Formats: sequence, C-alpha cells, structure tokens
Amino acid sequence: MAYKIGDNCIACGCCISECPNGAIRDGERTAVINPDRCTECVGAHAQPQCMVTCAVMAPEPDPDRRETREQLLAKFQKLHPKRTPIHV
Ligand code: SF4
Repeated sequence: MAYKIGDNCIACGCCISECPNGAIRDGERTAVINPDRCTECVGAHAQPQCMVTCAVMAPEPDPDRRETREQLLAKFQKLHPKRTPIHV
C-alpha cells in the first residue's frame, strides 16, 4: 500500500530527502507522493521514513492502493536493480 500525504502537511519538505525511492516532491500546497515509486520503504528501511520524520504525522497508508509486501519488494527491486534489499 503506497503512502499518501494528508491535508495536515505543512509543506516543510523534511520528508523529501528521507525517501529512499525519490517518491516525494513538493506539490502546490503539500508534499506529494508518487505511488508508483512508494514501497512503504520495504527493501530499504524497517519503517516508512516519511512517516517517522514528519512533525505532524501527515503521511498515511493509502487504502486505495493496497499492495502486498511481495509487490512492494518487487517495486523496490525494479527501482534499484543493483541494490540488495534489506529484509526486516
Ligand atoms: Fe518514500 Fe518510504 Fe514514504 Fe513511500 S513510505 S513515500 S518509499 S519514504
């Protein structure tokens, strides 16, 4: 399940550099996550880095984009073909 950023985002930009997949960019009013690049941080970190670094807890799972852990791992490997994913 890709993450999305809620309306309470204050657009501080802190999450952008924390994403291992380059999935986050500045939007018009809030930061925005590209669901095609979000792996919930599977393969790179034990927890979603945007969520743990956010001061206002704006990132949240997007219920409209449910994916299995295997699908998320496959997405990570497609994005990073030369990188060995971590398993946690
Ligand atoms: Fe990037 Fe991880 Fe947040 Fe997804 S959950 S947008 S991969 S930091």
